[in-house]
Amino acid sequence: MSGLTLFAADEAAMLELGARIARATAGRGVIYLHGDLGMGKTTLSRGIIRGFGHVGAVKSPTFTLVEPYEIGEWRIFHFDLYRLADPEELEFLGIRDYFEGDALCLIEWPQRGAGVLPKADLTITISVHGGGRSLHLAPHGPRGEAWCAALAA
Ligand code: ADP
Ligand code: MG
Repeated sequence: MSGLTLFAADEAAMLELGARIARATAGRGVIYLHGDLGMGKTTLSRGIIRGFGHVGAVKSPTFTLVEPYEIGEWRIFHFDLYRLADPEELEFLGIRDYFEGDALCLIEWPQRGAGVLPKADLTITISVHGGGRSLHLAPHGPRGEAWCAALAA
């Protein structure tokens, strides 16, 4: 399994896809989210986080850089590094703690944290497709490949 492309016709479909991705990951790993502003990275993250049973708001962490979620046994960290000026700033956030435990990390604008972020299990690239969005999922290693296999089934 070298990757796959999925389609979400609207926001509701994007949230549903997020819930499927949540199930595939079982709450552990690192996902990089690529795509221009307004492509739906935060929407997909919202779907993933709600997929674990979170019922409250899922705000864009544009200004906080990271929003943590504790849902039952799961810990999810949702990053948006758009405003990160220097990857070194991530050290001040205590980034190591986020990546050492058994957590799921969703990272918008990971290229801003290059060199400091851990490597991704999966990269999702979102682009416009008709009125909706196409999502290309590229796995990096066995964990991401297992997720893609589950999502392709
Ligand atoms: P990003 O985090 O990539 O900047 P957002 O998640 O904030 O983008 O979403 C941008 C907009 O795209 C929102 O208005 C959302 O409703 C819309 N959107 C999300 N997913 C889809 C989709 N699959 N099809 C059409 N519009 C979508
Ligand atoms: Mg966003």
